[in-house]
Amino acid sequence: MMRMLGLMTALLLTAAPAAAADDDPRWVFYSRDTTAYTSPWYDGAHRTMIGYGCTRAPYYPADSRCGGGRGFHHGIDVAMPCGTPITAGRFGRVVSSAAYGPAYGENPLVIRNKRLGVDILIAHARTVYVSVGDRVTRGVSLALASDSAAPDGCHLHFEVRSVAGGLDDAQRPVKLLDRVPA
Ligand SMILES: [Zn+2]
Repeated sequence: MMRMLGLMTALLLTAAPAAAADDDPRWVFYSRDTTAYTSPWYDGAHRTMIGYGCTRAPYYPADSRCGGGRGFHHGIDVAMPCGTPITAGRFGRVVSSAAYGPAYGENPLVIRNKRLGVDILIAHARTVYVSVGDRVTRGVSLALASDSAAPDGCHLHFEVRSVAGGLDDAQRPVKLLDRVPA
């Protein structure tokens, strides 16, 4: 029995570093926050890759709100392995994402919550399980994370705008992400 426990411990120890194999080699972290967070919006616990607001990340044009030629990121990017399930963290209705440009990937998803007065945008999704007009409640499967239009690897781009708002109506999204340190 002791020998078997020893073997199991050895297996667990050797298995542990395998989690790192899920890391996307294209990820570059432009956030000082190294905490992994859980959220009702996705499975597992993951780190912020690019926060909301002015950023040194090179993917965005220089913005007058930011000094030093930095660009403005309108959402929060959470690095997660390709295929990570994304779930609804709030009640809402799925509305059309046709107005969103190609930067958001092939299948962006917009959840409208009129009570909160917001559209919640899920970008870079691959497989989408819901359709325009669907009502979703917390916990409903929405999509899988992917790298669609994301040269920096698979991640969730989580953006919040006022209802039917444009890019200039993007709001600080972190509160609605409902994160908890893992
Ligand atoms: Zn982003």
